Amino acid sequence: MQKPLAALAAVMLISSASSIAGAQQQGGHHWALVVHGGAGVIEKSQLGPEGDKAYRAGLDKAIHAGAAVLDKGGSALDAVEAALHVLEEDPHFNAGKGAVFTREGKNEMDASIMNGSDLKAGAVAGVQRVHSPISAARAVMEKSPHVMIAGRGADEFAASVGLKMEEPSYFFTESRWQGLVKELKKKGLPIPPRPAGVPKEGEQIPVAVLDEAEDSGVHGTTGVVALDRNGNIAAGTSTGGMQAKMPGRVGDSPIIGAGTYASDQSCAVSGTGTGEYFIRLGVAREVCNLVYFKGMKLQDAVDHVIHKELEDLHGDGGVIAITPDGQLAWSFNTPGMFRAKLVEGGQVQMGIYNDEP
Ligand code: ASP
Repeated sequence: MQKPLAALAAVMLISSASSIAGAQQQGGHHWALVVHGGAGVIEKSQLGPEGDKAYRAGLDKAIHAGAAVLDKGGSALDAVEAALHVLEEDPHFNAGKGAVFTREGKNEMDASIMNGSDLKAGAVAGVQRVHSPISAARAVMEKSPHVMIAGRGADEFAASVGLKMEEPSYFFTESRWQGLVKELKKKGLPIPPRPAGVPKEGEQIPVAVLDEAEDSGVHGTTGVVALDRNGNIAAGTSTGGMQAKMPGRVGDSPIIGAGTYASDQSCAVSGTGTGEYFIRLGVAREVCNLVYFKGMKLQDAVDHVIHKELEDLHGDGGVIAITPDGQLAWSFNTPGMFRAKLVEGGQVQMGIYNDEP
């Protein structure tokens, strides 16, 4: 099953022009990857020089982690997972450590991963214990008969396959907690007790993060799409979801076709934004459908979905995307999106605000 798809992709690659100069080489392809750390109302003044630097450093570290895998001839899937590990461990981003909280003061994280060559996919929703939700998603894909596992069962499965587990306090950050308290007060909702085992108020110096609240329009979800030297693509997304969400709420990030999609026949996509809109539109699959059925260039496809379809619904957010023939694209309808891209042999191109290329 894997082979015919891969062979078809190879034929498509040989016959199609690339948007990146020299993105194809004899006997293989130049690798490439795109990373995002969320989209939203990200203003320079709000972030400050310290925050700006910290977010850029995180993106840089993540893209180089993915690049190192691809440069050694590793798979797009491995590169996606490696880059997401960095972002999950960086408390600035809303994934893994630094995830936002439910209104009950718990971290419930969602993640998914998809491999373009065989359409294999895995996802977890509402996990509270696994150190790396993206690795849990990959384990669901590779070691279970399912595509998505939610809640307690997902954490138990992750533990059963030997993934690193944490106490819930590992994911806690003071900045996100303060953001939760602020949001709950605004909504007139009760403030839950601080989670067990976390530092006392005032003991942990908050990192400079953006306030993730419903009306601030900030989304710090993380995502990666990658193309390897074999011409295969993959996508992954990992998130804490939306600050002060209802317990049990599941966003688009773990939903294949909404927050994540990858097919070597079209493209790989990871999204960020208010997940409810992304689910309703099936954003990631929609982008790939425009590429596959309408033959659209990747940039035109992402722009159409974000600036036409998402805006028509009054949704907010953005996507990153990649094709097997080396087209890279991002699009967002918010004032900013944490983003970076790199093509083999090139320089990292990074941006946060919408006045950057
Ligand atoms: N899309 C994510 C969700 O709705 C949030 C984000 O992008 O930060 O859960």
